[in-house]
Amino acid sequence: MTPEQFSGAILDWFDQHGRHDLPWQTDKTAYNTWISEIMLQQTQVKTVIPYYERFIKRFPTVETLAEADQDEVLHLWTGLGYYARARNLHKTAKIILSEHQGEFPQTVEQLSDLPGIGRSTAGAVLSISTGRWAAILDGNVKRVLARFYAVETWPGTSTAQKFLWQRAEANTPQQRVGEYTQAMMDLGATLCTRSKPSCLLCPLEKHCEARAQGKTDQLPVPKPKKTIPVKQTYMLLLQQDNADEILLYKRPPSGLWGGLWSLPQVSDLRDTLNETGFELIESSIQPLEPLRHTFSHFHLDITPIKARINTPTDSVMEGKPLLWYNIGQPENVGLAAPVKKLLQQRVNS
Ligand code: SF4
Repeated sequence: MTPEQFSGAILDWFDQHGRHDLPWQTDKTAYNTWISEIMLQQTQVKTVIPYYERFIKRFPTVETLAEADQDEVLHLWTGLGYYARARNLHKTAKIILSEHQGEFPQTVEQLSDLPGIGRSTAGAVLSISTGRWAAILDGNVKRVLARFYAVETWPGTSTAQKFLWQRAEANTPQQRVGEYTQAMMDLGATLCTRSKPSCLLCPLEKHCEARAQGKTDQLPVPKPKKTIPVKQTYMLLLQQDNADEILLYKRPPSGLWGGLWSLPQVSDLRDTLNETGFELIESSIQPLEPLRHTFSHFHLDITPIKARINTPTDSVMEGKPLLWYNIGQPENVGLAAPVKKLLQQRVNS
């Protein structure tokens, strides 16, 4: 199949079966495309839609986003995960405003210099919003090409990456490049799915190597598994006079849950006073149902502890910002995922 036949088949399929009415397709500005592309990383379209709509309603332009408070940006991201994406969106908006006069750069190289924008996202923003030629290789496209060419190594290896980028570039047409970009993402998301791809409906079916070799369930080759360590922590749901208020603190701007509000944590309950400056009232200590939160590099086993405290002093939590979070009237702040879950459980209990 020549590159022209490849892109022709993809575009014909897109005209008939592709998605044309997603919220970010109505006005394909660089800003809208960028927000949607960042949200769609590791996240499915149906999950992204309500987040995208809320985000664009509150921050309709790069200026509004750049001028926003980080807490509000993280608040609108709460639940989507991978919070570095939200922090980078905010940073990038500020850079676009201060260094690019509010206009998105017009080359893949310049776009890729911005925080959180890789080569593939840069290609998607450029091709979809301007129609300029640029290739993409996001997770969906990688899966399609790894199957189509029956790549026998994990697509994350540098050899496979190089090969797949070459193929992605060779197949990207000069005309209708934005639609082709959208079409490849759609094909990966709707037909060439992770499990049970719908090969019989696929425009590439007759030329697909994985299909011909009966290997669609083995390709792409999965990432070699590594076992990740398990860490333990206590998360403290501290209360004072008002039973609806739980104490939260703001985490440092970078690192795990950077800039999000979280519950105080200790590794040993007996060290609570030393580690946080709070003294728990012994008779009020109540362990709640444990939960596990998995990061890319470790599992965190959390034992939530509900307890009452005496009046906090100035030296608590090493002077980090504190907030009495009212679960009946929640503040617009970004919350770490397990914290959100625990607070929700408190609302429902
Ligand atoms: S034929 Fe099947 S495996 Fe090959 S690209 Fe199409 S959907 Fe994917």
